[in-house]
Amino acid sequence: MAHELPALPFANDALAPHISAETLGYHHGKHHAGYVKKLNAAVEGSAYSGMSLLEVIRKAQADGDQGVFNNAAQHFNHSFYWKSLSPSGGGEPTGAVAEQLTAAFGSVDAFKEAFTKAASTHFGSGWAWLVRDGTGKLQVISTHDADTPVAHGHKPVITCDVWEHAYYIDYRNARPDYIQAFWKLINWDFLAENL
Ligand code: MN
Repeated sequence: MAHELPALPFANDALAPHISAETLGYHHGKHHAGYVKKLNAAVEGSAYSGMSLLEVIRKAQADGDQGVFNNAAQHFNHSFYWKSLSPSGGGEPTGAVAEQLTAAFGSVDAFKEAFTKAASTHFGSGWAWLVRDGTGKLQVISTHDADTPVAHGHKPVITCDVWEHAYYIDYRNARPDYIQAFWKLINWDFLAENL
């Protein structure tokens, strides 16, 4: 069973004007699709054949197989990122989400500030994440390039892709403007499911 590119959970133009249909066309249809294609080419007929995506990530990490790791981790990260966004997202969280973020960070605004800082100051390509770490604590982290929280014993809760390909068409080099757009699209319902 080959790994499959998931369909976007919204129409290509549903996140405009914050993220354009052109960006999603390239990001999902070229970048994410490319990772899946390269992953399948590497896995076919290898020891990874028949493994789940998480099994592939863990074996590639254990074996130091960087090529397989990168494509598998990017497939996981992007699949998680699409679900982190919603055309009906944004606004302020309520209920259990607001309570848990306040308990962990002091306030919802303090969580947003920490996440924005992680996303905006990450040097080069990577990802900002809210994760639940191995001890159950909510933490904001960033990962480099293709690296993924599931390779470090963390459970991902929400993510923002800060590779330039995520925002260059819409915002050129202005990553902070893209991060502001992320807050207008954040899928609090998906975050709640992962808490
Ligand atoms: Mn990306």
